[in-house]
Amino acid sequence: MKVYNTATRKEEEFKPTKKGEVGMYVCGPTVYGPGHIGHARTYTAFDIIRRYLEYKDFKVNYVVNITDVHDDMIKEAGKQGITIFALADKNIELFMKDLKELGIKEPTKMPRVTQHIKEIIYMVERLQEKGVAYETDDGVYFAIEKFSDYGKLGNVKVKKSVTGTRVETDKYDKENPMDFALWKKSKEGEPSWPSPWGAGRPGWHIECSAMSTKYLGTQFDIHGGAVDLVFPHHENEIAQSEACFGKKPFVKYWLHAGFLNVRGEKMSKSLGNFITIPELLEKFDPKAFRYFISTLHYRSRIDFNDEAIAQASKNLEKWNNTIQELLSAQGSGFEKEIGALVANARKSFISAMDDDFNLPNAWAALYDFQSKLNSLLAQGSVSKKAAKIALGFLEELNSIFGFFSFEKKSGIAVPKDVLELVKKREDARAKKNFAESDRLRDLIKEKGYLVADTAQGQKISKA
Ligand code: AMP
Ligand code: ZN
Repeated sequence: MKVYNTATRKEEEFKPTKKGEVGMYVCGPTVYGPGHIGHARTYTAFDIIRRYLEYKDFKVNYVVNITDVHDDMIKEAGKQGITIFALADKNIELFMKDLKELGIKEPTKMPRVTQHIKEIIYMVERLQEKGVAYETDDGVYFAIEKFSDYGKLGNVKVKKSVTGTRVETDKYDKENPMDFALWKKSKEGEPSWPSPWGAGRPGWHIECSAMSTKYLGTQFDIHGGAVDLVFPHHENEIAQSEACFGKKPFVKYWLHAGFLNVRGEKMSKSLGNFITIPELLEKFDPKAFRYFISTLHYRSRIDFNDEAIAQASKNLEKWNNTIQELLSAQGSGFEKEIGALVANARKSFISAMDDDFNLPNAWAALYDFQSKLNSLLAQGSVSKKAAKIALGFLEELNSIFGFFSFEKKSGIAVPKDVLELVKKREDARAKKNFAESDRLRDLIKEKGYLVADTAQGQKISKA
């Protein structure tokens, strides 16, 4: 299996540190508001990667942090007149609900920054002891010139002239690397924790170094996030962790998901193209969204638009129709043919996914499988046993994708009121009340449906 590593800009053979186990960390959301569809893209992409690794029998320890103290949190809590803790609780609850609806399996651990202040202070103290961090009147900073590998991940040249300059904010330009805050001394009215440097709060980057170490160790296998985090956030994580614990590399494989834009533009509140996850879920079937994301490479940039989701929804429906046909297959043949189709499709699927989770190639193989399967189904003689082989494979795929439906539907869409009459008729027949049963049959007919009594119960068709 190969993965593309941002750190080396190459595809590399995937060999986890511990055989059969994978430690994986993905930067989580800052919970100052509901999640947005960019988050949904990144967490769906990594959920598919995690589930594929599990499909390959790896035991995955998957950690996603929650940033519950941050400049954006303080600003928003101030606006709403509540504490950052109340703001976080509210948005975390919503985020967990959103993840579930999007079909994202809950990570093994979702640590919150405010519950890891001790671990953060420990690291900052060690960095200061090692002489790579220094205290000023407003905080503690990491001196990037003391870490010789600084800039390697983001491919950024550190100019001597700009080192030693400090930045107040956590996000800054790629062209302008500067010493970054590990600890921020608190200003009047800001949330704070006691520390060796007085009351304050962590800088943004240190949380991921401290929490990944706590849950995955000083060296682990996969670290992810979207491309926006390569620099400075991930660059800074490497500097902090490797300078503190002296183990290189801190992360074996850096994986970055492509950014999601809306109709060709970066999402932003001022452009009016900002879509939250609750807004997405109100408008679209979450399974169609997941299908859309699953057909694209995790590294590709995504352009979100209504048409793309509508198309995904249609394609998903086609798969579910194939599944329905398989569920009602009653013929007598094609076991050998379907067995061969499945074996072939599985092989191509795994080979595509083993190549840096190449979903577009994986789906090419699956579409080919679907079209061949459909032509066999069209001949009408697929046996139950043959159908079971195909269904088994689709269920296997569903352990990764989670959007197929295997529930057997009655052949036609029957309105609720008609279904209620059918149910009443069933009860009447059970009580051998045939007069009532005939009356209900007429009522059903008036509504445009026919019922036939078969050995398997009532069969409904359009009149
Ligand atoms: P944030 O809440 O901005 O700290 O981001 C949390 C996670 O979502 C990080 O892994 C980001 O890289 C990712 N992310 C943020 N915005 C987008 C976007 N528009 N498209 C894809 N991923 C995003
Ligand atoms: Zn992070």
